[in-house]
Amino acid sequence: MPLHHGHQPPRDDDSTRRRLAVKPFYGQTDPTGGMTEAPPAHRLPDTPLPPMTAYRLVHDELMLDGNARLNLATFVTTWMEPQAGVLMSECRDKNMIDKDEYPRTAELERRCVAMLADLWHAPDPSAAVGCSTTGSSEACMLAGMALKRRWALRNAGRYPSTARPNLVMGVNVQVCWEKFCNFWEVEARQVPMEGDRFHLDPQAAAELCDENTIGAVGILGSTFDGSYEPIADLCAALDALQERTGLDIPVHVDGASGAMVAPFLDEDLVWDFRLPRVASINTSGHKYGLVYPGVGWALWRDAHALPEELVFRVNYLGGDMPTFALNFSRPGAQVAAQYYTFLRLGREGYRAVQQTSRDIARGIAERVEALGDFRLLTRGDQLPVFAFTTADDVTAYDVFDVSRRLREGGWLVPAYTFPPHREDLSVLRVVCRNGFSADMADLLLADLERLLPDLRRQPYPLTHDKGAASGFHHQSVLSG
Ligand SMILES: *Cc1c(COP(=O)(O)O)cnc(C)c1O
Repeated sequence: MPLHHGHQPPRDDDSTRRRLAVKPFYGQTDPTGGMTEAPPAHRLPDTPLPPMTAYRLVHDELMLDGNARLNLATFVTTWMEPQAGVLMSECRDKNMIDKDEYPRTAELERRCVAMLADLWHAPDPSAAVGCSTTGSSEACMLAGMALKRRWALRNAGRYPSTARPNLVMGVNVQVCWEKFCNFWEVEARQVPMEGDRFHLDPQAAAELCDENTIGAVGILGSTFDGSYEPIADLCAALDALQERTGLDIPVHVDGASGAMVAPFLDEDLVWDFRLPRVASINTSGHKYGLVYPGVGWALWRDAHALPEELVFRVNYLGGDMPTFALNFSRPGAQVAAQYYTFLRLGREGYRAVQQTSRDIARGIAERVEALGDFRLLTRGDQLPVFAFTTADDVTAYDVFDVSRRLREGGWLVPAYTFPPHREDLSVLRVVCRNGFSADMADLLLADLERLLPDLRRQPYPLTHDKGAASGFHHQSVLSG
């Protein structure tokens, strides 16, 4: 029979231990916390707050952010089903780099790469190499580095002493390619826009190539207008170049959006590893891959396309893991969510989701055209995205006025100016994503129609600060 004693006063060292036994986060203090004033916002507060108080302060401030579902500027996923949210919160503590600690997460990443290699027709999917990234930007950096290193190895006699590498692309590339060229000291050779051609011209691209060209980038889905660049024609022009000059220029396809649209909706379009010249492809899992930000994917046709010396092997987490990445630690939840979405939708499901977005984009484009005040540049029949401008006879208002007035209803429809040689052209762009329903499209159209009489009565375009009108800086409009 155990013998119990009454409560003993704690010894000094015991009381210290007891105090430390409660994690500071677990100590629930008075919810008002004795606060007479709000904690400082730009300097670390001196003392802790109760969790509920801290939560409310942050939550309430964030209420003033825009409504993501009304954001027609971004390509990035703003809706996933609740099960995906549950899965992601279950995985929120998993670090993608700890492949030895989280072998199943690593396995899901491997399966996603295999599925993409198959989807993009890698000649031997088991030989394709790939990895997840934080998004397409990181994937493009990795792909660009592989191109640069392959070129440097081929030109070891001339680089780095005299030869300066260059990369050929359209002027319509997403800003990540300008970053790549800037960060890795590669000259960006850009094919300008011309007349009604708003993306790369294959012949002009081939003409920019020389012995210092590390590769050419083709974009499957230009961010400016949603059009597909002619990847097969680009490869054909480079084949002809090789026949004429012996220059063998590899192609990288930036499929940030289109690599998750074309395989389902445009099966006859040949843009992927079916073209022998395509060395690598990237996509944003968080765009038409239908996962919350941030996950992207980079794949190489085979091990030859990715120089082994760029791959680092880490053993300090246990195991021996080859990795190719800019980051070290990175959340694993997005990768689990990508695998979930692949499993959940399959080809049929992806086809249905993307077809719905495309149908809605085409429908709105047609109805915008029917209003009479606008001219369509694209019709939403490639990416579910279209760009339009004001008709020639519209002088009372411009696209920046339209963007500004649509904001009154909560709609974010960016307006921006085109790059060389079409700086004269300013457009509005609508990106239709999963979660933007036909009903919401009706509401957008109704708002636009309601604004027109007002806009037509303006004496002249009224928006002076063109950048502020759309609520975005030029680069960030196009970034996502
Ligand atoms: C969005 C986009 C990128 C950048 O992708 P992130 O996933 O946002 O880093 C690169 N290229 C193209 C064509 C894009 O549309």
